[in-house]
Amino acid sequence: MQLTILGCSGSLAAPGNPASSYVISVPGETDVVMDFGAGALAAMQERFDPAAAHVIFSHLHADHCADFPSLLVWRRYHPTAPASERHRLIGPSYAPEHFGRMSADGPGELDDISDTFEFTAWRAGRPEHLSGLAITPFDVVHPAAESHALRIEDADGKVISFSGDSGFTPTLIDAARDADLFLCEAAWGATSEGKAEGMHLSGQEAGRIAREAGVQTLVLVHIQPWTDPEEVVQAARAEFDGEVVLGTAGATFEL
Ligand SMILES: [Zn+2]
Ligand SMILES: [Zn+2]
Repeated sequence: MQLTILGCSGSLAAPGNPASSYVISVPGETDVVMDFGAGALAAMQERFDPAAAHVIFSHLHADHCADFPSLLVWRRYHPTAPASERHRLIGPSYAPEHFGRMSADGPGELDDISDTFEFTAWRAGRPEHLSGLAITPFDVVHPAAESHALRIEDADGKVISFSGDSGFTPTLIDAARDADLFLCEAAWGATSEGKAEGMHLSGQEAGRIAREAGVQTLVLVHIQPWTDPEEVVQAARAEFDGEVVLGTAGATFEL
């Protein structure tokens, strides 16, 4: 499988780097988009067909889903290449209501998105199967209701693990166990000292999780535009001997 970073800017989009959004491609299968923050749809148009992808969400903070109403417009109203079928949408149980409100014409109204997406709610520990992948959600620690880390395994046993947004929890070590590639947020910069609990990770914690989980490659993401990314990378490297990569918009990883 191939992973493409559409954007990985933390908490909000940055110049040249959309907020969190990733595409997982399996040859011969429909692409899977994971999170869809601000700027994701523009980035997606460069390399992928926005009307032909399943969409999965780690959680529904705006920086992970703000471009979804625009995706609905593309899928429904593109004059020559709208969505030709319903695709899967998998996320927190309240996703249809959340997006229905974001895409509504007025207060108290809900846009019914079931014309273009078939929705399934995550259940922690229960894998969902799509595009030749088994995707298992793990409950993590974050203020957004129903926040998940996602473990994605292909038919060859290759594993991508995505932390989503989370404070430190041993669950992340389970979610990342022996992963080939671990996409881990590091919103707190080099260290979590003095930061709110139960919200985000630091580069140091990302490195610790990568080490304890025995992952192959750690990709640091969700770093905010006001943070020096090199400090975050150094903090992760101090904890983890394996490969540490700074996530960048447009980067691709072959597994
Ligand atoms: Zn976030
Ligand atoms: Zn969040």
